[in-house]
Amino acid sequence: MKLLLRIVRTIVLFVVLTILSQVGGVIYLIYKPFGVQISKSIKSKITQRLSRFGLFLGFMVVSSLWIIPPIAQQFGRTPLPILATSEIPLKPAHWLFILTNRHYVTPKLKTTIVQVSQQMQSQYPEVQLIYLDANFPFLDNFPLLPHLSHDDGEKLDIAFIYKNSQNHIFLSETPTWLGYGYCEKPKKGELNQPKYCAEKGYWMYNLLSKFTNKKNDYKFDYQANRYLLKLMIKNPAVRKIFLEPHLKTRLKLSKYSKIRFHGCHSVRHDDHIHLQL
Ligand SMILES: [Zn+2]
Repeated sequence: MKLLLRIVRTIVLFVVLTILSQVGGVIYLIYKPFGVQISKSIKSKITQRLSRFGLFLGFMVVSSLWIIPPIAQQFGRTPLPILATSEIPLKPAHWLFILTNRHYVTPKLKTTIVQVSQQMQSQYPEVQLIYLDANFPFLDNFPLLPHLSHDDGEKLDIAFIYKNSQNHIFLSETPTWLGYGYCEKPKKGELNQPKYCAEKGYWMYNLLSKFTNKKNDYKFDYQANRYLLKLMIKNPAVRKIFLEPHLKTRLKLSKYSKIRFHGCHSVRHDDHIHLQL
């Protein structure tokens, strides 16, 4: 019975880690014999659990930072920067994006978004561009859940730009811990697509906004976000941008056909920008 439970636990962990990080399941299997050794050699249950978790985390960190990037290059994917610098003002919303290998793109998309971040910086020197989910390091058509299309290295989500509502200084963090779910909702009189999709039965559309803790002193900056979107539109490598229809209208970008509506089967896009080559 105990053995069966152990096998089921290993399978469940393998599947969950694979869904979350693509290679996490394989790393778990590599770590497993070392974990068993720890269980045998340490008596205290708490120390045992902490040591096993620490070792697995170590395996994940080492693979994410040093082992996967050079291998992914061979498969045509490259990691986005881990830290923003004065040369490349681009960074992830959270270190979890790196640990779970969700920050891989094609070299062309990397060049494009680096270019956009630098152009943004020349107009707004204090703004650092923040990226959210990109793609996994290997294989086309391997889904990066919950996104439908982030499966070929050519898709990337970018956070909106916010100011502190009290002192009006640009913020270099996202309003929720993973960057999703803080929605710039439709105002009275604007097209309310989220409401329309919910009424049509698309419950996934609004899902993320219900499960995120928000910091409330974040103010969506109209000018900077419009400028950023125009940089993306003007970049010849960018083919499509997904944005909620009411924001396309509010930001006076209606004439640009690169900005499209993504459909009710997707998730709402008034908490981030989706761009693709
Ligand atoms: Zn996206």
